[in-house]
Amino acid sequence: MSSLPAIDELRLSGVLPSPKGVALAVMELCQDETATLDDVARVVMTDPALSGKLIRHANAASMGGRPVVSVGEAVRRLGLGPVKQLSLGFSLVDQYGEGACEGFDYQAFWSHSLLAGLAMQRLARNNGMGPPDDLFACGLFSRIGRLALATAYPEAYAEILAATDLRDASALAAAERLRLQIDHNQLAAAMLADWGFPPALIDPVEYHEAIDSGRFDAGSRGLQICESLRLAVCIADLGQVDESARHALVPDLMCVAGRVGLDEEELGELLDPLIGQWHEWGEILNVPTHQLPSFAQIASAPPPRAEVTADGASLRILLVDDDESSRELIGKMLVDSCGHEVQLAADGRSALAMAVDSRPQVVITDWLMPAMDGLELTRALRATEWGQVIYVVMLTGAGTEAQVEAAFTEGVDDYLNKPVGEVELRARLRAAWRYVKLHDEWERDRAQLKRIASELAVSNRKLEQAALTDALTGLPNRRAGMSLLEQAWSVSRRGDQPLSLMMVDVDRFKAINDAHGHAGGDAALTAVATTLRAEARKDDWVCRVGGEEFLVICPNTPLPAAARTAERLRLAVRKLAVAVGDRSVAVTVSIGLAGREPLTQDADSLVRDADKALYAAKHAGRNRCCLVRGGKTHLGPA
Ligand code: GH3
Ligand code: MG
Ligand code: MG
Repeated sequence: MSSLPAIDELRLSGVLPSPKGVALAVMELCQDETATLDDVARVVMTDPALSGKLIRHANAASMGGRPVVSVGEAVRRLGLGPVKQLSLGFSLVDQYGEGACEGFDYQAFWSHSLLAGLAMQRLARNNGMGPPDDLFACGLFSRIGRLALATAYPEAYAEILAATDLRDASALAAAERLRLQIDHNQLAAAMLADWGFPPALIDPVEYHEAIDSGRFDAGSRGLQICESLRLAVCIADLGQVDESARHALVPDLMCVAGRVGLDEEELGELLDPLIGQWHEWGEILNVPTHQLPSFAQIASAPPPRAEVTADGASLRILLVDDDESSRELIGKMLVDSCGHEVQLAADGRSALAMAVDSRPQVVITDWLMPAMDGLELTRALRATEWGQVIYVVMLTGAGTEAQVEAAFTEGVDDYLNKPVGEVELRARLRAAWRYVKLHDEWERDRAQLKRIASELAVSNRKLEQAALTDALTGLPNRRAGMSLLEQAWSVSRRGDQPLSLMMVDVDRFKAINDAHGHAGGDAALTAVATTLRAEARKDDWVCRVGGEEFLVICPNTPLPAAARTAERLRLAVRKLAVAVGDRSVAVTVSIGLAGREPLTQDADSLVRDADKALYAAKHAGRNRCCLVRGGKTHLGPA
């Protein structure tokens, strides 16, 4: 974990959020190994508010069953860890409901944290990733680093918040590191560690906003908690935004839920009761909460309709007219009464140059102009990639209307008669605005799809990796081994390079299993695997191809060299003393070797040769190497 100087400085300065009073006493008591549950209950009882909250929580957590009525019972039911975490949480909510950092919404922070905590608790009940109360704390404190930064650096943090797009957590973290040499995730991890949280809960908090940098193993509990936390935070986000923004969060939410195995319906079953719980807890803790429709309703609601009026919605417009007075007049109308951003150009050529730089959303152009007329300008714009999505409105004088149809085939979207009236101008721009909006949305959807696709690709790669790896030893499994062998075989054939193979089998392994149990057998296998990998050369492939059988592929290696390596492997394994409980178990292996010879037909027959050598090694008494050359076996030393 972080030993960043910024963290130590913050710890020393005493400005980080920390519990006071009874909560502090509870935390200290929990560090004391001689303290009993009753001692803790006695301390809790001195704070009636905290007592009430703990009893309430114990009842909510017990899901039916006999109700808890006393503090002592609540403490016993919850256990020390959760009592400590809950006291801490409740105390912080009380103390840090407001603060000095402008632009940090303390109430919204706790509202968000509470919903994330409850979501984690519920997810834990669903998927058994850990004790629900521990995971409640994990969700509740997932963003504690933000509160801490707001508390420690109120002014600097207000500036960071004002300058950052808060929907992008990694941008916020980057801005924090740049300015404060630490980000909210690193700080949260350090604080949770100081508070005595177990690493299994801290790592997910540190990495849930950038899961790939957490280097969790595929299928591990850490990864499961981390992905669940990401979902809990998405749910909490949904609780904070107003109705118009909700719809946009749904695709992301479903994608994240999909990664923890929840489909749309299951997500709804999780979410809906959660909101009721959030309201209850919000009341107890004095934290604001919000009403939400059911998830099914949120998910099926149509996207918010683009505003039909262009009033107030500003467009970037390029106005092109060679007639100065008309240019000024229309330009003024666009700015004054419609509030658009307007650039002016006097002919098509300069308009084109401006458009290259400023990428307007709408071009309103006069038809007849010197240098480059409106039609030529339209054609030039349409010839570029970015110019195809510009909405082009043609200004037509008397008599040109007849040619308008031709203008449409050149790519003009709409036309306006001169002189231009304000009402008509607004009406036409409404259509332009709708078009621009639609296009933006389409681009956003496309970007989102791309992201979903790349996330899927990452998880597929992880799955693929898992399918080729042996779970016990972490070595390539049989399937991977056979495909590596085929590759090595064809490289060796094509380049006429030597190729050797070892078949390694643990001796009398059944006896090890019988004497020390399956777990003891597994420990021996892991130790043998680690030794083989460590002692083999870097370019050799060590694979676990059966229960206690390993295949070592030695590319570009002649048989005598492979035989020397094999002997080294054998001796290294013989030196092992595998610890099983308080006993130490000795292990030996027999190794059969074969190399590619002119008459060897294929990779399979190479394996058969190595097997034949292995059989001979076993037959000769085990703990030996044996090689096959020209169809004859040659035993190594015992
Ligand atoms: P030999 O010296 O002739 O190789 O004797 P052996 O007992 O090692 O050979 P055998 O192939 O008869 O027995 C292998 C045993 O390995 C049988 C099986 O119960 C055990 N085994 C296979 N896979 C695993 C595993 O993943 N873990 C454990 N603990 N045992 C395994
Ligand atoms: Mg064996
Ligand atoms: Mg065997």
